[in-house]
Amino acid sequence: MSIMVCMHSEDIKEELREKGIKNTRAKSLLLHILKNAEAPMDVNNLHAECQKETSVNLVTVYRTLQQFHEKALVEEFMGKDGANQYEYIPEGSIAHPHFQCEKCNKVICLEELGFDDALYFSNRAKHHKINSIHIMLNGVCEECLSLP
Ligand SMILES: [Zn+2]
Ligand SMILES: [Zn+2]
Repeated sequence: MSIMVCMHSEDIKEELREKGIKNTRAKSLLLHILKNAEAPMDVNNLHAECQKETSVNLVTVYRTLQQFHEKALVEEFMGKDGANQYEYIPEGSIAHPHFQCEKCNKVICLEELGFDDALYFSNRAKHHKINSIHIMLNGVCEECLSLP
């Protein structure tokens, strides 16, 4: 299925409408890319992906991501290189930790937290209300470890 077919799908349009976001070509394309990404992406990566389909400037990508974040469509967190990473969060999804490689800077999604883990954090937050959980593990990824 081509990306052009997907991005105009009713799903994407409906999702933007539900969040009260005006549908534009750049917004539907960006949401499509985020929904199909296997790992969090930074602004530059997202911009590069958009450019494959249509000409979108970096400021538009940046502003759209801010709007998506405000409307709770995406998670935003800072990677160890200081670049913000963005990830689509499906409705009602459970938080999962990330791993970032110190050598290649790649960010990998780890298995989502279990019920016990969620309990662990809510106990520690005591009477505060948790809205989101960001866990970033840093180290050297499998591929970089296997390099000579
Ligand atoms: Zn690596
Ligand atoms: Zn993730």
